Amino acid sequence: MALIVHKYGGTSMGSTERIRNVAKRVAKWARAGHQMVVVPSAMSGETNRLLGLAKELAPARHTDAVLRELDMLAATGEQASSALLAIALQAEGLSSVSYAGWQVPIRTNSAYTKARIESIDDGRVRTDLAEGKVVIVTGFQGVDEAGNITTLGRGGSDTSAVAVAAAMKADECLIFTDVDGVYTTDPRVVPEARRLHTVSFEEMLEMASMGSKVLQIRSVEFAGKYKVKLRVLSSFTPWDIDINEEAGSGTLITFEEDEQMEQAVVSGIAFNRDEAKVSILGVPDKPGIAYNILGAVADANIEVDVIIQNISKDGKTDFSFTVHRNDYARTIDLLKGTVLPTLGTDILEGDTKICKVSIVGIGMRSHVGIASRMFRALSEEGINIQMISTSEIKTSVVIDEKYMELAVRALHKAFDLDQPAG
Ligand code: ADP
Ligand code: ASP
Ligand code: MG
Repeated sequence: MALIVHKYGGTSMGSTERIRNVAKRVAKWARAGHQMVVVPSAMSGETNRLLGLAKELAPARHTDAVLRELDMLAATGEQASSALLAIALQAEGLSSVSYAGWQVPIRTNSAYTKARIESIDDGRVRTDLAEGKVVIVTGFQGVDEAGNITTLGRGGSDTSAVAVAAAMKADECLIFTDVDGVYTTDPRVVPEARRLHTVSFEEMLEMASMGSKVLQIRSVEFAGKYKVKLRVLSSFTPWDIDINEEAGSGTLITFEEDEQMEQAVVSGIAFNRDEAKVSILGVPDKPGIAYNILGAVADANIEVDVIIQNISKDGKTDFSFTVHRNDYARTIDLLKGTVLPTLGTDILEGDTKICKVSIVGIGMRSHVGIASRMFRALSEEGINIQMISTSEIKTSVVIDEKYMELAVRALHKAFDLDQPAG
């Protein structure tokens, strides 16, 4: 008997019919003798619907008081789907109970809409499991020290599931979604994308952090930190598929480089449209300037991603960086209000129509010329690169948003990702 955590995403929970299917699948696992904890997302579209209602009423800039209410609101989506799943499981003849994050409790910090899990008390869940119940724990949410409901950021149910699996030392965490695994890139953008049988933890971390939303980045971080056995697989197979076949399907996230691992230099391509670029022109080229600008941005709790500084001319230089689009307006206000006056320039340019495309692969450590192959493929399509950033196992470029799909397809081809890895 193993302790297994299943997570079902929004599309998998998207209607009562689908919830019934999830219940039948979970029942199959429970009847095979496993202890089951299930973490559902809200029904597809529900989180957007709820946040859309708030948007109709709320001012553009959110105060902490509004952010608190957004979490109260958004958390109801998972509460509803969890209760529905518990009801469906009971209809299947299983004993089942659902808990909201605060009831477990899943403790988080107080950063509303992007809270981090700090600890999970698994006592209640263990007692229920020992009594033979299937336990449903709402995804995406927790509770802070003062008892306020918090949410973990979009896509956060993945993180809830992996964190629960880590806290309970589960034998495996299965992320059921609407694709049958992790692909070389988003199969909705490149139909030739191939499913990876395994992907290394480091590659998955880079792919998630570069925008591949199949797993939320924090879920991958948790899996790495606590060595959670993690698999991404489809919830759209027939629910009565053989359990052993199901257990070996999809994509396994691996922690060691094993023999079987696919040997491609570049394993995947990720992209995101979530960032915006800010450029300050004509800043003095002298010590302390980067700190002056980025220190103020960091103090405002705004995360900066790609940074470039141009070569200087006549003692002046241009300084550009990217932030999340949600933080763009705040960044501009901050720079205009407190930073530019200290720099002796008022030339500020912004661009929200950018995207970032990244190639990821642990093979990049041992191969040279990978970045230049990337740049050649982009130049052959006439795509101008605005910014570049690299790490040991990835190269990212910032380009005009309108070329995103073209760039992803061209790179997928240039790195032979549509061909089985040799
Ligand atoms: P869920 O609701 O199950 O959490 P998401 O929509 O959050 O599902 O994530 C699954 C989606 O991620 C897929 O439908 C796919 O379009 C997208 N995706 C992006 N990159 C990849 C990738 N490399 N492999 C598989 N899916 C990807
Ligand atoms: N329901 C939340 C969202 O839509 C969390 C999740 O689906 O993982 O972002
Ligand atoms: Mg998701």
